[in-house]
Amino acid sequence: MRLCILLAVVAFVGLSLGEEKKEKDKKLGTVIGIDLGTTYSCVGVYKNGRVQIIANDQGNRITPSYVAFTADGERLIGDAAKNQLTTNPENTVFHAKRLIGREWSDTNVQHDIKFFPFKVVEKNWKPHISVNTSQGAEVFAPEEISAMVLGKMKETAEAYLAKKVTHAVVTVPAYFNDAQRQATKDAGVIAGLQVLRIINEPTAAAIAYGLNKKEGEKNVLVFDLGGGTFDVSLLNIDNGVFEVVATNGDTHLGGEDFDQRVIDHFIKLYKKKKGKDIRKNNRAVQKLRREVEKAKRALSGSHQVRIEIESFFQGDDFSETLTRAKFEELNLDLFRSTLKPMQKVLEDADMNKKDLDEIVLVGGSTRIPKVQQLVMEFFGDKDPSRGINPDEAVAFGAAVHAGVLSGEQNNDVIVLLDVNPLTMGVETVGGVMTKLIPRNTVIPTKKSKLFTTTIDNQNKATVQVYEGERPMTKDNHFLGKFDLTGIPPATRGIPQIEVSFKIDANGILQVSAKDKGTGNKKKIITNDQNRLTPADIDRMIRDAEKFAEEDKKLKERVDSRNELESYAYSLKNQIGDKDKLGSKLSDEEKTMLKSAIDEFIKWLEQNPDADTEEYKKQKKDLEAIVQPVIAKLYQGACGAPPPEGADGDKLKDEL
Ligand code: ADP
Ligand code: MG
Repeated sequence: MRLCILLAVVAFVGLSLGEEKKEKDKKLGTVIGIDLGTTYSCVGVYKNGRVQIIANDQGNRITPSYVAFTADGERLIGDAAKNQLTTNPENTVFHAKRLIGREWSDTNVQHDIKFFPFKVVEKNWKPHISVNTSQGAEVFAPEEISAMVLGKMKETAEAYLAKKVTHAVVTVPAYFNDAQRQATKDAGVIAGLQVLRIINEPTAAAIAYGLNKKEGEKNVLVFDLGGGTFDVSLLNIDNGVFEVVATNGDTHLGGEDFDQRVIDHFIKLYKKKKGKDIRKNNRAVQKLRREVEKAKRALSGSHQVRIEIESFFQGDDFSETLTRAKFEELNLDLFRSTLKPMQKVLEDADMNKKDLDEIVLVGGSTRIPKVQQLVMEFFGDKDPSRGINPDEAVAFGAAVHAGVLSGEQNNDVIVLLDVNPLTMGVETVGGVMTKLIPRNTVIPTKKSKLFTTTIDNQNKATVQVYEGERPMTKDNHFLGKFDLTGIPPATRGIPQIEVSFKIDANGILQVSAKDKGTGNKKKIITNDQNRLTPADIDRMIRDAEKFAEEDKKLKERVDSRNELESYAYSLKNQIGDKDKLGSKLSDEEKTMLKSAIDEFIKWLEQNPDADTEEYKKQKKDLEAIVQPVIAKLYQGACGAPPPEGADGDKLKDEL
């Protein structure tokens, strides 16, 4: 498949410049760039003249694209969701990107759902995810799961920028079709984000390295090895104009496979050493999975790591070393399997290795030294572009483009011109695909063609819209159809029906048909049949808001519990510490306070699920016991006013 994206300097592209300017004038606020990955997502923003990749609330710059629903009614997104995957497999949803915008009957969908531990069901001819939430069984569209991940990235950016964010640029794989792109935009809407542009991941990576700004014609190979997928794209960049010449890869190869090899290795080793099989014990496997991924990452920097897991299985600890050499041995065949798609992409593009000017490494798994070495050897020791973390490069490029759209990035104005990746056309007599807009046409674009009737007195014309490159429509992808009725009786071949295709800047196709005789007109947006309806989206937005509200309540409850807990423990520690309260209180006071605090700690243990108000009340009660003793201490000591208030941290600081 040949896809292309054009990047052109403003002066040459009047029409699109106008579009970009209009968008800027709309006061979009800060526009963020999001790499919505299969396994990990990343968000960046263009600020003060440079791109900032934003860390999430756990301090991580990439966030797992995982969503989980726990037995006690919590919804987890990101690291927290991924960390409990193995113990809550039916309700931990991941790889939604493999389902989004696809139909139930899609062979890829049918293949993938066999391996998901969560349930996938058919609804409106599309795959949906069925999980148990606190509200009972609930079914989510893949768009909704992706919306939860996008919402998390939005929140991450909002926390960093300290303001609301409403607009974003989101990236998708180069091979995503119209329906997948559209569904990704819908996910944005559900998350409260208007997706200003969808751009291709390899294009974003090339923009991150500023390759669009280099003089002359360049061939760039983008090697993207992530958590679950491997994509190779060959871009041609000529005076700022980008073209995706060829793509290849392996939809099921990535870091999670490398983790699995190591997990299998340790399970075998444990069995050999201790005679115990941990495979059936989800909790043990989960601990191992988490530590193995950590170890794998560490091995990209060091040659040896220790993996220690306390009370791993039946009370025993786990303690093993993993060397880089062993890790490489376990995965060498997988690493090597990246070479064939690279060969293929060169063949498809009719190029030799020496025709390549730049190699860009993208995806977290290209941090693995052995992978880098194999790629360099393949290209005759040519050094890949460096300087940007490979798992952040796509978000980086998206943030650069977002900066242009929001007007933050003024000094080098670039215009990203997309092209439609597949030919769009209608079915004519005999099932023939009649092309209206050829692939690689720069969008936005509009094309019309005249058609006529095939039988006498035909009063209805059916317009069937397809995308694809094959001559017969049966081999292409059906997008939608509609009837133009009320054609006045006439001999075949006389009526003139004008069919118009319009693709807007976001790649959305709108098809209309007009009877030139009567002026009768009808139109559709082709992906409507496959897409969520506006009513669906509205409902999903409301659900998302409801979830956000529940999340907030839950957070308040957890916070109030933590406050009470830390207040109680910090007091207990200070009473026991002779440098702190320990030396200032009488033995009687200490005993009294200790036993009071212990009562509260016991209450906490017995009431893990109390509500916010109860926790707050308990804290007040404890304060009522503690405050008089502390106040007396201050008065007695130096006449200082007693520490005020209900704030445990403040009390702790002042003491
Ligand atoms: P995606 O494939 O979803 O786009 P990424 O490109 O972020 O995601 O790749 C995620 C994968 O990269 C994960 O399997 C993760 O374990 C792996 N990874 C991240 N950092 C490192 C590292 N330092 N060394 C090896 N693998 C890493
Ligand atoms: Mg990726």
